[in-house]
Amino acid sequence: MPISFYDFSSLHHPAFLEQVHQRYRKILSENSFIEGKYNELFEKELATTLGAKYCRLVGNCTDALEIGLLVYGIGHGDKVGVPGITFHATAEAVLNVGAIPVIIDVDPLTGLMDPESLKRVDQEQSLKAIIPVHIYGLPAPIEKLEQYCNPRGIKILEDAAQAIGTLLPKFPVGGSQNISAFSFYPTKNLGAFGDAGAILTQNEEYAQKISSIRNHGRSQQGLQIFGRNSRCDHLQAAVLQLKLQDLPAQNNMRREIAARYIESLSSLSIQFPGKDFISTSSWHLFPILVRDQKEKVALWNHLKVKEIQSMLFYERALGDERPLEHLLGERKNARIFAEKVLCLPIHPFMQIEQVETVTKSISEFFRNEN
Ligand SMILES: *Cc1c(COP(=O)(O)O)cnc(C)c1O
Repeated sequence: MPISFYDFSSLHHPAFLEQVHQRYRKILSENSFIEGKYNELFEKELATTLGAKYCRLVGNCTDALEIGLLVYGIGHGDKVGVPGITFHATAEAVLNVGAIPVIIDVDPLTGLMDPESLKRVDQEQSLKAIIPVHIYGLPAPIEKLEQYCNPRGIKILEDAAQAIGTLLPKFPVGGSQNISAFSFYPTKNLGAFGDAGAILTQNEEYAQKISSIRNHGRSQQGLQIFGRNSRCDHLQAAVLQLKLQDLPAQNNMRREIAARYIESLSSLSIQFPGKDFISTSSWHLFPILVRDQKEKVALWNHLKVKEIQSMLFYERALGDERPLEHLLGERKNARIFAEKVLCLPIHPFMQIEQVETVTKSISEFFRNEN
C-alpha cells in the first residue's frame, strides 16, 4: 500500500461529512453566506483555546500577514525581516504592502529565525518589523526575539500558518503579545474546504481595525479608511468550527508519530530539527536533515520507488527564489538547510505499521549506501 503525505478520506469520513451537510443545508436555507454565526463562534473558540483576546477570520493567511503589517503601520519602503527558511508567502505579504523583505538567517539545526543574525541584520538595515515563522510547526524563539525587538520598537508578526497547536514556553502560539497569522488552507493541521485564515491579537484597537479592513473599510462610524475584501465564508467557518474539536487529538497523534520516527531513526546519520520540540510542535511537517543535497535526492527517490511520499520543503532558501535573489540580509545557514532537508509523511491517520514501513525503508537506504 502506498503511503501518502495527506489522507483526506480519513479526515473527511462519512459521519463528519454528514454533519457538514446538515450545517450547509441550514446555512443555505437561511441565506447567511458571509460572517454568520459559525464565524463568530469559531473566532471566540479559537481565541480562547490559544489565549488571545481577539480572533478575526479572514480570506487566507497571506491576507492575514498583510493586514497584520497594515495595522502595525508598516508600508512603503519599510524594512521587514523574514527568515531564510519559509514558504515564500511570508515575503510576498511584505512586498504586497510595499515594504522591503530583508533576510534573517536561521539556526542551522532547526531552520527557525536566529536571534543573533537578527541583531547583525538590524544593525545594518534598521528593521521596522520582523516576521518569525513557526516553520514545520516548530516554535520559533519568540522570547529571545522579543528581548531584542521590544526595547527597540521593532514590531513582531508571527507567521503561524503551520503552527496551530504549537506551544511556546508560556502559552500556545497565538497567545503572545504579538499579532499572529494562521492559515486554514486544506492541507494545514486545521483545514477548511477552501481558503481561510485568521489573525489573533490581544489589542482591541487592532482587532477593530482588522474587522474594518477585511470588510472594505466598513465600520460602525461609517467609512473611515479603505480596506479590501478578505471576508471568510460562513460555509468555511462552519467546517472549521466543526473540525476544531478534533484538532488537539489529531495534533497528539502527530506528536506520537514524531516521537516514533525520532526513536527509530536515531542511530542513523540523520539530524532532527524538531528533536527538542517533540511535545510542543504541532508537527505540521516532519523534517529531517541528511548529509547533503545528493543524499537528499537519493533518499527521496528511494522512498518514491517504495511508494512512500516525501516532500522537499523547502527546496530553496527564500533568498534563492528567483524574484527574491536581490534581497539583502544573511542567508548562509538557510542555504545549507534547504539543500539537506526532506519531510517525511506525518498525518494523524498514519498507522503504526506505516510509520514502521517508512523507518525500515530509510534504514535500508542508509545500509545500502554505506
Ligand atoms: C501556507 C503558508 C502561508 C500562506 O497561507 P495561505 O492561507 O495559503 O495564504 C504562509 N506562510 C506559511 C509558512 C505557510 O505555510
